[in-house]
Amino acid sequence: MMSIKDKVIVIMGASSGIGEATSKLLAEKDAKLIIAARRLDRLEAIKEAFPEAEIHIQEADVTNYEDVQKVVGLAMDTYGRIDVLYNNAGIMPTAPIVEGHRDEWKKMLDINIMGVLNGIAAVVPIMAEQKSGHVIATDSVAGHVVYPGSAVYCGTKFAVRAIMEGLRQEQRENNIKSTIISPGAVATELYTTISDKEVAEALHQDQLESGLTSEDIASAVVFVIDTPARMSVNDMIVRPTGQP
Ligand code: NDP
Repeated sequence: MMSIKDKVIVIMGASSGIGEATSKLLAEKDAKLIIAARRLDRLEAIKEAFPEAEIHIQEADVTNYEDVQKVVGLAMDTYGRIDVLYNNAGIMPTAPIVEGHRDEWKKMLDINIMGVLNGIAAVVPIMAEQKSGHVIATDSVAGHVVYPGSAVYCGTKFAVRAIMEGLRQEQRENNIKSTIISPGAVATELYTTISDKEVAEALHQDQLESGLTSEDIASAVVFVIDTPARMSVNDMIVRPTGQP
């Protein structure tokens, strides 16, 4: 079985929260990392924290396909293959439907759905040729259950679940694994993407009370990456123990 340290792993949305914790955990395990997000300074800080690790950073907006291709190109130019793509970038500007925040809906659909599809489009043909690979996406409990006030966010995460299941069905014969990790509330910067101050603060409180950490989710991601070729975890829900 290929060990984690031999794997070339591309992470989209690596600059904070779950993506940052996963990048750090994988750096500790000596994986070959290509990490991307819009905030280059945050990616630089991760690289600087692990001077011995093989970490390559690339500024990228997942809604821009050229940016995504640059990230994938960096991985291919450096290592000639990609073993894992982790599509983690996401935002959550939740608000009741009646408020009609069409601009926020469009941005959320673009990042949470098109961002995932851009990663898939850039990487799956490479993995199909390799006859091996693993695509992982951060989905959510909100990809399984709909909450009032979160309908559009839930819609994006239901969509990601459907897309990732379709990918599994289409690419299983090329030995490409498809995994969604579906966290419950985790304390991260995600609440800062909510424009309504009261809703943002309520979510922040939920996140703080949940007790679940980005490092917990990172350990789930590492678990699914470190499975033998014959074993494919497709959907892992990780709730804080006390969450309804
Ligand atoms: P953070 O806000 O801390 O992290 C979000 C990450 O996505 C950042 O690295 C951010 O980087 C990146 N990102 C956002 N927009 C873009 C973009 N256009 N292009 C590239 N990268 C982008 O929150 P989390 O760690 O919580 O979020 C990670 C994932 O986890 C999301 O998909 C979220 O929906 C999901 N999730 C989170 C839960 C929680 O309770 N925290 C629960 C369930 C799922 P940058 O801004 O630098 O571009």
